[in-house]
Amino acid sequence: MAAFGTVFMPQMTMATFENSDWSKPELVSSDAIQLHPGAHVLHYASTCFEGLKAFRHEDGSINLFRMNRNIERMQQSSRLLSLPAFDAGLLQKMITDVVKHFSDEVPKPPGSMYIRPTHIGTEAAIGKAASPTSSSMLYVLLSPVGDYFSGGDKTLRLLLEEDGSRCAAHMGMVKSGGNYASALQPILQARESVNADQVLFCPNGDVQETGAANFLLIDGNEIITKALDSSFLHGVTRDSILTIARDMGMTVSERQLSVDELLERASKPDCEAALSGTAAVLAPVGTLIHNGKEFSVGSGKSGATTLKLRKALNDIQWGKAEDKHSWLTKI
Ligand SMILES: *Cc1c(COP(=O)(O)O)cnc(C)c1O
Repeated sequence: MAAFGTVFMPQMTMATFENSDWSKPELVSSDAIQLHPGAHVLHYASTCFEGLKAFRHEDGSINLFRMNRNIERMQQSSRLLSLPAFDAGLLQKMITDVVKHFSDEVPKPPGSMYIRPTHIGTEAAIGKAASPTSSSMLYVLLSPVGDYFSGGDKTLRLLLEEDGSRCAAHMGMVKSGGNYASALQPILQARESVNADQVLFCPNGDVQETGAANFLLIDGNEIITKALDSSFLHGVTRDSILTIARDMGMTVSERQLSVDELLERASKPDCEAALSGTAAVLAPVGTLIHNGKEFSVGSGKSGATTLKLRKALNDIQWGKAEDKHSWLTKI
C-alpha cells in the first residue's frame, strides 16, 4: 500500500484570482502547475490548505463529511493570511465537481477519498514581503487513501514540549504551510532523542496540540481538551468527537489542561488519551515523555472509549449509523 497522500487523481479543479476577479473553475491536469519563480507563496508563504474526505456507502452513493466546516476554515485561513477572499459556493462547486468526476475511484471503507483544497499567492513580486499577493490560485487535489490503521492499532509516544511552540501564537488557527515547517525541527529532534512519534506542544505548561492533530484526554466518563482560542487549529474531527461524546452522555470539558494535571490523571488505570484529525479520526496515545521520564497513559494500550468513539464516527461516515447532525452531503 502506497504511503498516505502519495497517490493522486490525474486531474484537479482549479480557479485563479486575477484583476480582482475569480475565473470559472476548470478541470485541469494535476501533474504540474505553472508558477513564476518569484511567486509570493514561494517567498512569503502565502499558502493555506484543507483536508476532508469523501466516503463510499454500501448503496454506492458518495458522501462528503462536514464539507462546509472545511470551506469556512479555509475562508478564515485565507483572510488571516491576506489571500484573496472567495465565496463558499466557489470552493463547494470545485470540491463536488472533482469528486463527482472521480466518483468511481472513491475507495470502499475503511478507505476513502482524501480531498486537499489548496490556496496560494501567485503574484510575481519579491518586493511584497509586507504586502498581500494580488493574484492567487485555488485548486482541489484528490488522493485515494486506504486503512490508516492497516499496520495495527499501536499506541503513540508523545514528547511533551513546554519550552517551544508549534508556531507563532497568532497563527495557530490558520491551516498554513509555514506552521508545519516551524514544527518540523522539534518533531525530528523528539524522534531522534526519545523515539517519540509526535510532539505535544504545551507552551508554558498549557497542553495544546501536536504538529497536525488535536489532543484529547479521556478520564473515565469525561473528555478534557483545550477550549477553542486563536492559538491552535480548530479540528473538525475534534468537534465531531466531542459532539458524539455528548450524545453518548459523556461529560465534555473544554478548558485549560496543564502538564501537571495531565500527568497526574494519565497515571490512573482507566485513563486514555488520543489524537484527533481527519486522516486517522482518533489515534490512541500510550506514552507521554516529560523531562526524561516516561509515563504510561492508563494501561498504555488502545483504550476502549477511544475505540468506541472512533467507531461511532466511522459508522456515521460510512453510512452505518444515523447521520443525526446532518454531517454528510450526498453528491
Ligand atoms: C488539520 C489539523 C488538525 C485536525 O483538524 P481536522 O479538521 O480534524 O482534520 C489539528 N491540528 C492541526 C495543527 C492541523 O493541521
